[in-house]
Amino acid sequence: MKNKTINGKDISKKIRSELEEEVAALIEKGVKPGLAVILVGDDPASKTYVKSKQKSCREIGMESLLIELPSDTPEETLLAEITKLNENDAIHGILVQLPLPSHISEMKVIEKISPEKDVDGFHPINIGRMMTGQDTFLPCTPFGVMEMLKHTGIDPEGKHAVIIGRSNIVGKPMGQLLLRENATVTYCHSRTADMKSLTNQADILVAAVGKPKMITADYIKEGAVVIDVGINRDENGKLCGDVDFDDVKEKAAFITPVPGGVGPMTITMLLYNTVKSAKRTLNR
Ligand code: NDP
Repeated sequence: MKNKTINGKDISKKIRSELEEEVAALIEKGVKPGLAVILVGDDPASKTYVKSKQKSCREIGMESLLIELPSDTPEETLLAEITKLNENDAIHGILVQLPLPSHISEMKVIEKISPEKDVDGFHPINIGRMMTGQDTFLPCTPFGVMEMLKHTGIDPEGKHAVIIGRSNIVGKPMGQLLLRENATVTYCHSRTADMKSLTNQADILVAAVGKPKMITADYIKEGAVVIDVGINRDENGKLCGDVDFDDVKEKAAFITPVPGGVGPMTITMLLYNTVKSAKRTLNR
């Protein structure tokens, strides 16, 4: 089957060009959307992600502020930085790059960010709003997956969606968003017994595990939609997903590649949420 690869880059491009127009319109009204990113320490992967987020902001005309703190920054100092950003009217979105050094409580940090500027959608208030179907900032990765499905014409209603992974930032909200669109949702995790028997029933399979190429064709139902959230390195140090793309591609109806699948969508939805936050200030 041709064109079965869901191209996250192309979908991202389309959404970003719409956002660029919205940013220009906001600037005309005197509001330049601004995202602040706090990076603690010098983890190379985190640095790469942060750079990419900043570049993407600038490309669509948004303001991007980077605050770099050393890895031994006391928790109190980080919390104080967040308070300053909460009070800064030029900043519409605040993102603290995870993971944080082990002496800092991630939950305390997330809860310190004003829910009105929590463009990652990780604050418990925003998670509660998502669960109860209220307007909020949706967590960027699962939000990006939902946009990919929408742009590909895949309606989750009545489908059996199986999510592998139950993290707070990907797996759990992924299931909630699919449920919201009337899918029947099953979660799998490291303690799931006989996982293949469940994944083999999936019309939509989302892999968010963090294990290179773990999902092979024997996990997949013929004609399934396979969404690969994983970002890993294979045995040769090459970027790869949780899904063994070459093994699965013939059996799946649709599949997302790594790189060029969910990754670009995550950043796009971060931009989307920041623009949304800036628009809200106009209405206040
Ligand atoms: P976590 O490590 O927080 O969660 C992994 C989940 O996978 C856990 O729920 C864990 O189960 C489950 N798991 C681990 N091993 C197995 C197994 N053998 N069988 C079944 N389930 C298993 O990871 P994240 O959710 O943060 O990220 C997942 C992947 O997605 C990573 O590769 C990450 O790099 C990538 N990612 C990609 C993003 C993007 O933009 N594309 C954004 C964020 C993450 P348990 O809960 O029982 O431990």
